[in-house]
Amino acid sequence: MSDELSPQATTFEQGYEGALRPATLAEFVGQAKVRSQLALLLNAATMQQRTPDHILLAGPPGLGKTTLSMIVATELDKPLHQTSGPAIQHAGDLAAVLSALTPGEVLFIDEIHRMARSAEEMLYLAMEDFKVDIMVGKGAGATSVPLELSPFTLVGATTRSGLLPNPLRDRFGFTAHLEFYATDELVSVVRRAAGLLGFGLSEQGIEEIAGRSRGTPRIANRLLRRVRDFSLVHDTPGDTATVQAALALYDVDEHGLDRLDREVLRAVVERFGGGPVGLSTLAVSVGEEAETIEAVVEPFLVRTGLLTRTPRGRVATRLGWEHIGAVPPGAPLA
Ligand code: ATP
Repeated sequence: MSDELSPQATTFEQGYEGALRPATLAEFVGQAKVRSQLALLLNAATMQQRTPDHILLAGPPGLGKTTLSMIVATELDKPLHQTSGPAIQHAGDLAAVLSALTPGEVLFIDEIHRMARSAEEMLYLAMEDFKVDIMVGKGAGATSVPLELSPFTLVGATTRSGLLPNPLRDRFGFTAHLEFYATDELVSVVRRAAGLLGFGLSEQGIEEIAGRSRGTPRIANRLLRRVRDFSLVHDTPGDTATVQAALALYDVDEHGLDRLDREVLRAVVERFGGGPVGLSTLAVSVGEEAETIEAVVEPFLVRTGLLTRTPRGRVATRLGWEHIGAVPPGAPLA
């Protein structure tokens, strides 16, 4: 998978993305249902002057979970404390975070499915009763001391909601399932970001980037930055030709497929007659790890209707054949 089309944030982007993040629910593009559900939850809590229910944001990377957690804090006019599952490896790590929260604060735990088991158990009680039991001392002399916490709202984010234990999942009052964005929504994302970057991009140029962004705002913003760089260095206007030239340089085709995506599709069609072909055979044939094909390449090819998974293996669809310029079996030759 090329870096350009990875839905994960690079270390550089983790610091950079802030500039393009929408700050309020009204500025947040797309995810209309989630936006209205969240607005209702937050408004009701504000009217009753209580902390809102805990919120779980579930969905693939790059769709706006971190952004939404920041928006929740902004809309409630409360501070936000950010941490992540991998940073909480002991119950003590979580106790330190929880005991420092101020009343009404929003606690964001990214990748909450990767938190240590012992901390998960502490979190159940904290979410339900705003209390934790802290162990003091070691061995036979250890005692548990109850500690009252300030009421807070937990916003958990996960790319793997299936990995969350049921008791944890049940303690969230609301789960938002984030979906991939439609192209017209990505058009709004790109238009807004181009404006913020002060980059004059034509409407067709915007649409061209949106159509190649794999339903993911993070990818849309990244492709936009590459196009802006190209336009700057080559002194070309922000039009379709510049977008096409810039993205050709990064091997991103008109549907957002990169070199590896196309190689996989081409192998299924040209070497295995369109399939079915097993995952490991396919992986060897393109010289890539089976895991990468399964986790990164396939989901997008399947989502865009270019490939299907059958019990006997992977099969290229008619669209898949056409995408690489091959004639699907049974199609008229003319
Ligand atoms: P990860 O799971 O990798 O942490 P994420 O789902 O938390 O990803 P964010 O970091 O919130 O994703 O968003 C990635 C980038 O996409 C940010 O730069 C953000 O500004 C932009 N973005 C996400 N959603 C939207 C949106 N609805 N409107 C405009 N920009 C968005």
